[in-house]
Amino acid sequence: METAKFGGTARGGICRLTLTDSDRQVRDWFVKACEETDCSVTVDEIGNIFALRPGKNNALPPIAMGSHLDTQPSGGKFDGVVGVLAGLEVLRALAEANYTTDSPLELINWTNEEGSRFTPTMTGSGVFAGMYSLDFTYASKDRTGKTLGGELERIGYRGKTKPGSHQLNTYFELHIEQGPVLESENKMIGVVTGVQGLRWYDVTVVGCDSHAGATPMHLRKDAMLGYARMVEAINKIALNHSPLGVSTVGSVEVKPNSRNVIPGYVSFSVDMRHPEDAELNRMEKELEDSIVKIARDMKLEVKLENICNFTSVQFDEDCINTVRTSAMELDYSYRSLISGAGHDAVYISQIAPTSMIFIPCKAGISHNELEIIEPEHLTAGAKVLLKAVIERDKAIRDRIT
Ligand SMILES: [Zn+2]
Repeated sequence: METAKFGGTARGGICRLTLTDSDRQVRDWFVKACEETDCSVTVDEIGNIFALRPGKNNALPPIAMGSHLDTQPSGGKFDGVVGVLAGLEVLRALAEANYTTDSPLELINWTNEEGSRFTPTMTGSGVFAGMYSLDFTYASKDRTGKTLGGELERIGYRGKTKPGSHQLNTYFELHIEQGPVLESENKMIGVVTGVQGLRWYDVTVVGCDSHAGATPMHLRKDAMLGYARMVEAINKIALNHSPLGVSTVGSVEVKPNSRNVIPGYVSFSVDMRHPEDAELNRMEKELEDSIVKIARDMKLEVKLENICNFTSVQFDEDCINTVRTSAMELDYSYRSLISGAGHDAVYISQIAPTSMIFIPCKAGISHNELEIIEPEHLTAGAKVLLKAVIERDKAIRDRIT
């Protein structure tokens, strides 16, 4: 509730777009809170903030926790924030208990996870993991033409250390589920085993603009009707791959968009996801086949363009087991889950053993000012995070000695 003031909205949500003044305010708050918890704070060149709590054996790479403090323009109070603040609570609890881990611990706030103001999403973790160059991300512009690099500089968070210049032993990320599964099954903890693959396409359908009154039905090339049949087909593709496959047509543009003109042009987006890449390949093939067939039957032209891919991610078996055991030993109800959304953990899993912990959010609603969680679920999530960190620390120590 304290950090929700930075960018807080009248409807109880947060508008804290990355690298704005409210992002600077929450970052300042975070840095101060970490320093007060005896951590040393560094910032890298992409603005990721690292709070390091020394262990007994500081030659070891740290066990890391983290998430993001930026939000969508009409975001909720908990997406990303719970992962960072629960990590802070873990550090505070250890400080209060006078408990020193063997490995150092590190709490991370990643820059621009949301990707709402600047693309791509998950910029900070992506640069840290070597997926994007600094120059590429610095040049990214928002709608008003301001660059990500310039805004980092302006708010004073263009740090000095090279992104990715230090290793992470482990990365745990606590996050709200952003979907309805945990709540519907009355489970407190999601043991996240991976993240499903995602593909984005743009589809363009071209017919012929013609007069709505003077063109008989059988002589039309109606791009809108072709589009409608394609939407139906795309929905069926996911149903053919149920329950794990999902497909969505979420955005559409029609031209000339006039009441009495048969539309000659429609372009729309397709979002397809599945936890298995082989199944996603099949869904893609079905997408191609079905829209080509519909277009051919209706004498339309169609173009399918793949604009973004994320392969599915399988998290580290040891980390998953550590989370599962922690939930079990703390006596919380849990189930295994595959994340439907992307997270910083996707990129970090490429360079360090990683897994995630989910807690329920009411009705699965997220990216919404009305996002709500139960305090007891947050407590459970934070305790599982704490226990997972401690168990992981012990396992590393035992492996060495
Ligand atoms: Zn998030």
